[in-house]
Amino acid sequence: MIPVSFDYQKVKTVDEAIAALSNDNSKILAGGHSLLPAMKLRLSQPSKLVDIAAIASLKGIKEEDGEIVIGAGATHADIAGDKLIKSKLPFFAEGASMIGDVQVRNHGTIGGSLAHADPAADWPALVLAADAAIEVQGSNGKRRIKATDFFTGLFSTSLQDNEIIVAIRIPVPAQGTKTSYQKFSQPASRFAIVGCAVMRFPDGKTNIAFTGVSDNAFRDSNAEAVVSGKVISNDSIAAAAKAAVQSVNILSDHYASEEYRKHLAKVYLKKALQAVA
Ligand SMILES: Cc1cc2nc3c(=O)[nH]c(=O)nc-3n(C[C@H](O)[C@H](O)[C@H](O)COP(=O)(O)OP(=O)(O)OC[C@H]3O[C@@H](n4cnc5c(N)ncnc54)[C@H](O)[C@@H]3O)c2cc1C
Repeated sequence: MIPVSFDYQKVKTVDEAIAALSNDNSKILAGGHSLLPAMKLRLSQPSKLVDIAAIASLKGIKEEDGEIVIGAGATHADIAGDKLIKSKLPFFAEGASMIGDVQVRNHGTIGGSLAHADPAADWPALVLAADAAIEVQGSNGKRRIKATDFFTGLFSTSLQDNEIIVAIRIPVPAQGTKTSYQKFSQPASRFAIVGCAVMRFPDGKTNIAFTGVSDNAFRDSNAEAVVSGKVISNDSIAAAAKAAVQSVNILSDHYASEEYRKHLAKVYLKKALQAVA
């Protein structure tokens, strides 16, 4: 439970962080609630930690040019309590308030959670359902990665070496958009055994994303096709649940077998669709 020794550098700007990361075995430290446990178990052995918690430009949540922009350094608690998020993306506030406990919510960041890409984390399903883009910055400047291209497998993403997530950008949803996040939590950590995020637009387009179910969070296009543009009724909800989680490799562990997880995914999709009906 003791990590290998490492250097520590606290930085004030993103450029300083990118320069500090040029050492191959350096790692960003944000809230530390995923990285430090991994270091204590020696699953991660960085030679240097680059602490980004004091970078002011990574904080804050605002509306800008038709997008809601959440700084990568916003904590789960910042997002859960934010007025703009509560009014325009209520399922982000709900999801954030379901993460871990008070200490985890006060330190853990959305950027850290997305970069870590835990298969049971809540943010991946939420950003996928919201059609978000992940804005990253590296030595070649900034680029945007669509959430649907970001999660590439178990604890893996399309982030390049030395790239830092700087913000999450979500198109401002049209008035009348409804959202829901429903999760079946692991009773101690509150990580998602199954989490389902749904965003239903006024024209009937319906985005559905799952976390906890497979190696990485994903959009369920089969279930989306059943309900998009159609009235949400008991029949269409049942049909969407039947179509859901069909072509994915479903996880099985000591919390939930493959069969039970598949069942839970359908139950939590039904709950989420009922909430946006
Ligand atoms: C007891 C406990 C319960 C938890 N319960 C839940 C839960 O219910 N749901 C849930 O979703 N999560 C849960 N978590 C995880 C928690 O949300 C973490 O805080 C989060 O996953 C990581 O964010 P962080 O800021 O702590 O990142 P860190 O631990 O500092 O970093 C995690 C990884 O991301 C990298 N990184 C950090 N920030 C950036 C950035 N801006 N750009 C690029 N890379 C970056 C780091 O180098 C590291 O590899 C729990 C954690 C604990 C300890």
